[in-house]
Amino acid sequence: MGKPRVIYWFRTDLRLHDSPALKAALDLKPECLYPIWTWDPHYVYRARVGPNRWQFLLDCQNDLSASITKLNKKSKLHVIREAPQTLFPKLWKAWKISHLVFEKDTDSYARSRDEEVIALAKKAGVEVIVKTGRTLFDPDELVKQNRGKPTMSMNQVQHAGETLGEPARPIDAPQSLPDPGDTKLDFDQEQPASDPDVNAVQRDQDEKSYASGLAGPKGDFSVPTLEEIGIKNATSPHRGGETRALKGLDEIIKDEDYTATFAKPNTAPTDFEPQSTTLLSPHLHFGSLSCRLFYWRAQDVISKYGSKATQPPTSLTGQLLFRDMYFGAQAALGHTFAQTVGNPNCRFVPWHLPSRVQDSSDRDSAPVTTTNAASGTQERDYQIDSPEAEEYFRRWKHGITGFPWIDALMRQLRHDGWIHHLGRHAVACFLTRGGCYVSWERGASVFEEWLIDHEVACNIGNWQWLSCTAFYAQFYRCYSPVAFPRKWDKEGRFVRKWVPEMADVPEKYVYEPWKAPIQDLKKAGVMLKKGAELGEEEGGSKVYPKPMFDFNDRRQICIDGLKQAYDVGLYGNDPKVLDGSWRKL
Ligand code: FAD
Repeated sequence: MGKPRVIYWFRTDLRLHDSPALKAALDLKPECLYPIWTWDPHYVYRARVGPNRWQFLLDCQNDLSASITKLNKKSKLHVIREAPQTLFPKLWKAWKISHLVFEKDTDSYARSRDEEVIALAKKAGVEVIVKTGRTLFDPDELVKQNRGKPTMSMNQVQHAGETLGEPARPIDAPQSLPDPGDTKLDFDQEQPASDPDVNAVQRDQDEKSYASGLAGPKGDFSVPTLEEIGIKNATSPHRGGETRALKGLDEIIKDEDYTATFAKPNTAPTDFEPQSTTLLSPHLHFGSLSCRLFYWRAQDVISKYGSKATQPPTSLTGQLLFRDMYFGAQAALGHTFAQTVGNPNCRFVPWHLPSRVQDSSDRDSAPVTTTNAASGTQERDYQIDSPEAEEYFRRWKHGITGFPWIDALMRQLRHDGWIHHLGRHAVACFLTRGGCYVSWERGASVFEEWLIDHEVACNIGNWQWLSCTAFYAQFYRCYSPVAFPRKWDKEGRFVRKWVPEMADVPEKYVYEPWKAPIQDLKKAGVMLKKGAELGEEEGGSKVYPKPMFDFNDRRQICIDGLKQAYDVGLYGNDPKVLDGSWRKL
């Protein structure tokens, strides 16, 4: 047997530092190592990836590729534009591969894709090595230690974590990398499906263009540009890459007081430039930062700081444990975690009702099933059957609710791809149980599209938390769109930045302009109008919508609705939910 020939498959780990999977690949002492990114259509063609997350991904890939080349001039990240399930069998054969190595991914789509790839590898005689590195603990192990149940609280995570022992210390980045070996793509292939009647020259040309298509327009496996994938309007100032991630972490940790006394509930959601939390989440999502490195660098500061240091759940390390908690919940529940229907842990709430839930004739939000074109998986969603609720949803999404605090956050989310955790609380509560009474699944899909840190487990878990359908149950505690932001930012600096219509509105009215005397509004150059759209102007004044509803009324409607849903006590896997008979209750 010759020396191993290894494909290292980058996915959730766009870094060289602290990568247990990369270390395992290098420990094989391979003759050659191919660093590969396969352009999985599941991600490429899914509608819900906004331009800002694309930009962040390409930043990460470019940075990683440059770092690989620094360690070996002949190497780089080889981006190959085909689905792993069809690509790998051809690569293994053409490049005489003995091993495939990658980081474990417990997202439900990734699990099924990886199972398929592992089965193909077995058939092809390729050995597969999979290592955990995306979370502090292996989510499956966390679940095992939690008696096979989803981790639904910080206590459960800490308890299970204690049994597993402390998260492993980070490992250093490699100092060198092996050559990649020959990268010819001249597969003796069926693709493209050549017509047997086509002459040999034509077939040869087809094969060449297929091969160069795989390796990109220049045939050099380069990272695509935004133009190549047709993305024009990335607007986020937050950019990706391991180099930036490590620098960002250094800056946080250098400030020992900040690191050791970080207490999430005391961080202002209205702070910007700089924001009050670390903004490292997109790096954790793409793996340009290792969560173990983050954890241990913070923990080492905390350990030597003394009694004034904060502890989980509010500390920085506590935030990373929350992340593991959601990964554990997802690992146990699989694809049902991401939806209400079929989910034994998610309370069923008959969302979307136009008025008080006592009117049972309005209860007609039957689940509809659609098929995701790229993955072929079945996805269930609720149609909003109430035009009023649909309009609430549209106005929430586009930042034109007439509540400046909510609108500022949604406009920041769309533009920057990131908002503070308590800002996420505010808009999620407002859309679901604290205003609009629209399903958390609708909100989660907007976050999925716009967040640069979108992480299925964290997004879904937090939406369930905020909508009081899982993890948290105090549905009578709602965020006021006026009193809550005022506590953090009396002058309304944040709102004035993102809602320029409020730029000159007096401080007293900046969160509730509908209470301002008409002369004050006139002086501020703004006019309030029912149903105004974004960017409207009239007679030289900026036009801002009147609030789309009376918040106190809506809050009561939502609390009544939630109370009734809790009394009925159905969960997503209840037969009455599955067959729609809940309507008759
Ligand atoms: P910091 O406060 O600096 O925390 C450090 C790290 O801890 C974060 O980078 C993140 O990885 C992790 N973390 C912190 N809070 C949480 C939390 N509540 N749940 C899980 N991990 C946490 N986070 C995501 O990473 N991806 C998402 O898609 C996502 N969707 C969310 C949706 C809603 C409705 C809500 C309320 C929260 C969501 N969060 C999500 C959690 C949290 O808001 C972000 O992780 C955090 O705001 C990121 O900013 P930061 O890096 O400055 O966090």
